[in-house]
Amino acid sequence: MNTRPAITLVLGDITDQHVDALVNAANSSLLGGGGVDGAVHRRGGKAILDDCRRLRASRYGKGLPTGRAVATTAGELHAEHVIHTVGPVHSATEDRSDLLASCYRESLRVAGELGARSVAFPAISTGIYGWPMDDGARIAVRTVLESAPASVTDVRFVLFDRAAYQAFETALAEQG
Ligand code: ADP
Repeated sequence: MNTRPAITLVLGDITDQHVDALVNAANSSLLGGGGVDGAVHRRGGKAILDDCRRLRASRYGKGLPTGRAVATTAGELHAEHVIHTVGPVHSATEDRSDLLASCYRESLRVAGELGARSVAFPAISTGIYGWPMDDGARIAVRTVLESAPASVTDVRFVLFDRAAYQAFETALAEQG
């Protein structure tokens, strides 16, 4: 039986969410950046960066590959875990949709391993990495519906502006 999670759309800042696991649109260095990544490290405090540095030193000396996901503490955020995933940079010449889908799939797999029931996602790759919002929303909704483990019952997409919210609303209406 395929148990689908409840999907909720929220207009707001992902670092305000109270969830078991919060997904960060990280970059491969795991050492912080702009957008969601900047906000997560700013609000979550140094414990997250310390964990990321340890991961760099142990498993990801060359950086976290695109499409993969790894968990750290959530520091001072209202969550148990932050799951860092590296979205693909959008390309006009190459179809990288599988890599974007992989970010959602891998993050959910890690969330399942951690026993997280509620997970908050940003719209991965749609900021600095340039992915068109409508397409990014379709991939996000489809992949979550297809691949969430049964133990993840509540998936929240946290959208930063109204255009992003509307894109996810449309994607949900198409596929939900
Ligand atoms: P990427 O590098 O994967 O494109 P960004 O962090 O630049 O990641 O942006 C991903 C999406 O998250 C964009 O749509 C951006 O507007 C949005 N965003 C930026 N900051 C936040 C935040 N604090 N909470 C939720 N969404 C955010």
